[in-house]
Amino acid sequence: ERKAALAASTGPGATSDGHKVPLLANVGGPADVPAAVEAGAEGVGLFRTEFLFLDDSQKAPSEEKQVEAYRQVLEAFPEGRVVVRVLDAGADKPLDFLTPADEPNPALGVRGLRTLLDHPEVLRTQLTALAKAAEGLPVYLEVMAPMVADRQDAKAFADACRAAGLQAKFGAMVEIPSAALRARSVLQEVEFLSLGTNDLAQYTFAADRQVGAVSRLQDPWQPALLDLVSLSAEAARAEGKSCGVCGEAASDPLLACVLTGLGVTSLSMGAASIPYVRATLAKYTLAQCERAAAAARAADSADEARAAAQAVLSGE
Ligand code: PEP
Ligand code: MG
Repeated sequence: ERKAALAASTGPGATSDGHKVPLLANVGGPADVPAAVEAGAEGVGLFRTEFLFLDDSQKAPSEEKQVEAYRQVLEAFPEGRVVVRVLDAGADKPLDFLTPADEPNPALGVRGLRTLLDHPEVLRTQLTALAKAAEGLPVYLEVMAPMVADRQDAKAFADACRAAGLQAKFGAMVEIPSAALRARSVLQEVEFLSLGTNDLAQYTFAADRQVGAVSRLQDPWQPALLDLVSLSAEAARAEGKSCGVCGEAASDPLLACVLTGLGVTSLSMGAASIPYVRATLAKYTLAQCERAAAAARAADSADEARAAAQAVLSGE
């Protein structure tokens, strides 16, 4: 039965009553594209560009090398959306030539957008390469910054995108609780939000994502995390803008229904999860997803939230 449901799982992501939720793929580079196309991804919701920077620990890759890699990914989704995240260096993704070596708490230090604002030439090269890669292609390019804390960060990123002449939508990842709490303010500077639930959980619960001993607090079903998702999605709705999820949370089929019920507008995940999420979402109406979301938020723990959502969706 599971196999049949998956085989029947094709086409755009939607609830059973036709509320569309585009299902996008997380990719780390051109090598991940075939699996994304095979899974029927409607585009890329998170292109992690760090891979390009791993070959040389002393300097950034040349503009030409970047154009080539970006173009390969953009070409794979004609008429589709491709959301590229600019370099997210530092903390769990350190780079020798960019990441300060002497920080007591690297996750709370100079990482993500903070690194790029300290090294504007690296950001400029990346944005210029993206502009060139997208030239003449019928793709909807969107570019977003990791680790945006507030409106000032969002403005600095949008200014850099404009200065590079980028014809794209500019967005902010919501990975820091301050950005979720003040999402409407952040949205004055950018056109979309994308929730990075891995880091958002880390910073909400003060639980290092690399420390297994605190993994209970990294569970994306934690009601406090669902509250921040809801705040962000509500803010985007009020501003008439989109708010996707590109963290691990989106790959859990039941949680994908809850996120949809919270008002999230697209879900991006590893390609292998797409058929499962598509098949599960197609079983429930938007109203059922909203009831499951409300039940999950009313819970007091991740386990209770999961059980409450399951109970609503299975009609118990
Ligand atoms: C996240 O933090 O949820 C995210 C999508 O980014 P990364 O896992 O690459 O930090
Ligand atoms: Mg992150």
